[in-house]
Amino acid sequence: MKKISWVTHEDYDIPLPENHKFTASKFSDLYNELKISDFHHRANIQSPQKASVEEVSICHDLDYVLKIKNGTLSDKEIRRLGFKWSETLSNRSFLAVNGTLLTCKEAIKNGIANHLAGGTHHSHRDFGSGYCVFNDLAYASLHLIRTHQVKKILIFDTDVHQGDGTASILKSNDKIFTCSIHCKNNFPFRKSISDMDVELDNNTEDDEYLEILNQTLNSCLKNFNPELVIFDTGVDIHKNDKLGNLQITTEGLLKRELTVLEFFKNKSIPIATVIGGGYSDDKFELAKRHSLIFKATSMIFN
Ligand SMILES: [Zn+2]
Repeated sequence: MKKISWVTHEDYDIPLPENHKFTASKFSDLYNELKISDFHHRANIQSPQKASVEEVSICHDLDYVLKIKNGTLSDKEIRRLGFKWSETLSNRSFLAVNGTLLTCKEAIKNGIANHLAGGTHHSHRDFGSGYCVFNDLAYASLHLIRTHQVKKILIFDTDVHQGDGTASILKSNDKIFTCSIHCKNNFPFRKSISDMDVELDNNTEDDEYLEILNQTLNSCLKNFNPELVIFDTGVDIHKNDKLGNLQITTEGLLKRELTVLEFFKNKSIPIATVIGGGYSDDKFELAKRHSLIFKATSMIFN
């Protein structure tokens, strides 16, 4: 069976206070969950190198990148980001953007690759927001386009929250199509304008969700032919998610992953997946939800 690239790094976890809504250990929890999966033997584990300040400036203002590098964010900026600055946070932020880029490169080579992080879509050009320091989706896409590795990229964001930072950073770029399917009444309450926004009502359930998902997949490709898809697989659409307002079951979540992967695989468009958001007091349950995209990958790319 073909190997599948899993991109991760031992320094991805974020030091946070005990009662923080974000699960500090979610990246290593996911890795540990995947290690005991019945498809772990398919994995070709890879790790990124840190991006430089100059590299990250491809999608962020240099001033902001330096604030993250040097720990000089204001209190207001820290509140908006939702994380206190630490050396570890800074370090992992420079790693994770290149993690998504590496995942994209592996996907271009092999048709599919999975990042065990990424999807920090609330990060804007000059500020971090909603637990997102740097925008890995914008970073990886702009890098790949500028270095002529692909001509067009679709960012297909199914996190329950709108990909507002991605939409705003890439708004004038016609080589990168941003699509966000999200809950209308979830953060951010002031939305950006993506190339395609699909707003869902609170308590949307599996059947309706999957129907809208299928329609959206087809709509995205009507006038756009991507050579790569970056699929943000946020699991905060789950009915037991602490922040999301939708009612998607675990079965529905797995169906979303299978549907999207199969759709693009059938069209021979490479897919890079990132994990996006997910919130639960039960870190094992959360890791299981995030592991579904890896399971779906092993089923579709067999
Ligand atoms: Zn989210």
